[in-house]
Amino acid sequence: MSWVARDLEPYVFQRKLWKGAAGISFVALVIGSWGPDMATKWLAYGTNVAGLHLKASDSIQFHRGWPGAGFTHSLTFGVVVAGVVYVLTRSTPWALGLLIGIWLHALSDSGDTVGAMLFFPWTHHFALGAWRYTTGLGRLEDPAAYYSGPGFLWDSFWVVAAILSWRVLRRSYFHERIAPRDCFWAWSGRLLPEHALVAVYRGAIFFGLCRFTTWMLWAHVLHHWAPAARSLTRGSRPQEGEYGQHAAVFVGLLRQA
Ligand SMILES: [Zn+2]
Repeated sequence: MSWVARDLEPYVFQRKLWKGAAGISFVALVIGSWGPDMATKWLAYGTNVAGLHLKASDSIQFHRGWPGAGFTHSLTFGVVVAGVVYVLTRSTPWALGLLIGIWLHALSDSGDTVGAMLFFPWTHHFALGAWRYTTGLGRLEDPAAYYSGPGFLWDSFWVVAAILSWRVLRRSYFHERIAPRDCFWAWSGRLLPEHALVAVYRGAIFFGLCRFTTWMLWAHVLHHWAPAARSLTRGSRPQEGEYGQHAAVFVGLLRQA
């Protein structure tokens, strides 16, 4: 999985990845990018609804597996969602936005140790193993492990790429390239003033940069699962499972030295 890549990819995509991206609904791109986890992760972590505690008994199986909701993390799911939306709305910008958003999500999640069933119903998991899958640790421990390990490099890449794409945040860009392509903005313009629309458009990058900063502070400054060397000097010895895979290896090397 990854954290802020979800919030930042849509802006980078607008600016860098494809020059024709202005023909894609930005809102649909963000919804597609967030969607697979919005539909599943609250149950993988567990949540309380009306006094009931709801939690998947096996978070990996539920979040990424089949039987389970792992099909939401597949390229084929993106095609199906885009096809249904196109049939219902005849909106190419929305169908394309959802398709690419879900694809970016599924591809980036295949970077961890569990991976994603990219070509569901083929249930083979494509897993790069670049960082450890730790959803089972819980809502707070999961990001602590992710940002203690190499996952923070992946998110840092997106932070830098998003900052380099700062031009897409300009009001003029919003009016020339974003708003005219998507009826969402005309519709919400009836309810909200213009500056509020621009704030909504910039919302995901603001959210992403805040999340990145606070999770980095949480994992490296406030929490006892600080970077490996620092934990050692304090004598606190985290459980191996609490670390990102590579961070745990790094701790081992330091101990031997
Ligand atoms: Zn995911």
